[in-house]
Amino acid sequence: MRILVLGGGVVGVTAAYELQKDGHEVVLVERNAQVGTETSWGNAGMVAPGHSFAWSSPHAPMILLKSLFLRDQSLRFKPSIDLDLWTWSLKFLFQCTKSRSEYNTIRKHRLASYSQQVLHKTLRDLDISYDRVDRGILYFYRTQARLDAGIAHMQILARSGQEIEVLDRQRVLALEPSLRHVGDKIVGGIYCPTDETGDCNKFTAALAAHCVANGAEFRTGESVVGIDAAGDEVVGVRTSRGTLKADAYVMALGNQSRGLARRLGVSLPIYPVKGYSLTIPVGDAKSPPTIGSVDEENLVAISPFGDRVRVTATAEISGYSTAHRPSDFDFMARVARENYPAGAQHDRAEMWAGLRPMTPTNLPIIGRKRHRNLYYDTGHGHIGWTMSHGSARILADVVAGRKPSLALESIVD
Ligand SMILES: Cc1cc2nc3c(=O)[nH]c(=O)nc-3n(C[C@H](O)[C@H](O)[C@H](O)COP(=O)(O)OP(=O)(O)OC[C@H]3O[C@@H](n4cnc5c(N)ncnc54)[C@H](O)[C@@H]3O)c2cc1C
Repeated sequence: MRILVLGGGVVGVTAAYELQKDGHEVVLVERNAQVGTETSWGNAGMVAPGHSFAWSSPHAPMILLKSLFLRDQSLRFKPSIDLDLWTWSLKFLFQCTKSRSEYNTIRKHRLASYSQQVLHKTLRDLDISYDRVDRGILYFYRTQARLDAGIAHMQILARSGQEIEVLDRQRVLALEPSLRHVGDKIVGGIYCPTDETGDCNKFTAALAAHCVANGAEFRTGESVVGIDAAGDEVVGVRTSRGTLKADAYVMALGNQSRGLARRLGVSLPIYPVKGYSLTIPVGDAKSPPTIGSVDEENLVAISPFGDRVRVTATAEISGYSTAHRPSDFDFMARVARENYPAGAQHDRAEMWAGLRPMTPTNLPIIGRKRHRNLYYDTGHGHIGWTMSHGSARILADVVAGRKPSLALESIVD
């Protein structure tokens, strides 16, 4: 089949790769000059089934409420008159009960774990270099009460098969000696030895190059402006350069999926949740981080990316703008500097903000809706780099009419 993939983030490119592996002729349309340059550019790089908790949790409503009055909350709500914001927020709140939150977390974990297996298969098949570190991820704590709560919280993932180890302070510092400057402030941590990190943008670009070398057509610098349907069939996609036709279409437009689907009469509950990141050169810094970690008290994540360090923080529900000011980064920059004073050239940090394409359940949308030849692979939220590989394989199986290794009903809502 000739298949048109709309969107060249990590989700679209992994879908293109899996579809091409199945023998399809793949054409991908991306509005930017290069793939992987929107949300897939500046993320924390964590491939982390151990971090697949649903953000719509029983604690979230209070944190969001507090954020209306307090600065520096890790989860922030900035209300506006956007109707989509309010309908999405209501749906998000409905997912914040204990039972919904656990249900969504288990599904996310199932998909994230499968996705990591698919990633490993890709890495066995292809020689892709993307600053990968496969030594696990460390989630560390500054108070015993928070550590105890973290361990209790983690049991839901442990019951789903996630490997975890509880570490005392000495073992945390043995695992990540670069944290020694704040060693006396750390009480211990939770270590997920099978989690890993790597640069999502580099991976996406390399995988795209592989697809093109194998005959796929990647139409970068071309925008999708509309999708034409007749009855239950999509008959073409209008772009800034003309009309493209295919036997099947895959929508992987991240945050832009909702608007284009709406014009086809399909409602996708996706809303952007903004996050911020710093990319800092290591330069001649003496003690860069060697392993991905999350400072659980401050909710700041740090990943080593070869000769750079990536620092990320914040979930802000504030609309579609990626605008940012230096003051947005003050808190995370301070935490990074305090935790790793000799870890990078902190004064040379590059600032970035991106939008997580989030559903209220935090589960992605995979498969068909009302058109028989239009498939969706979108809404991957805060762990889309982690879940993209498995989503792509499942999508390719569904397109082929095969039974996916994970049944769709077991991972989507
Ligand atoms: C601060 C932050 C930290 C994160 N950390 C992690 C992490 O550690 N681990 C993890 O797993 N995930 C993480 N994520 C989430 C992850 O980055 C996203 O889930 C993932 O990148 C989404 O990929 P995507 O392909 O759906 O979206 P995108 O990367 O945004 O791709 C969508 C593409 O569609 C294109 N497009 C849109 N509209 C059009 C159009 N009309 N025509 C043509 N092209 C169009 C865009 O240009 C874009 O390239 C993080 C996100 C943020 C913001």
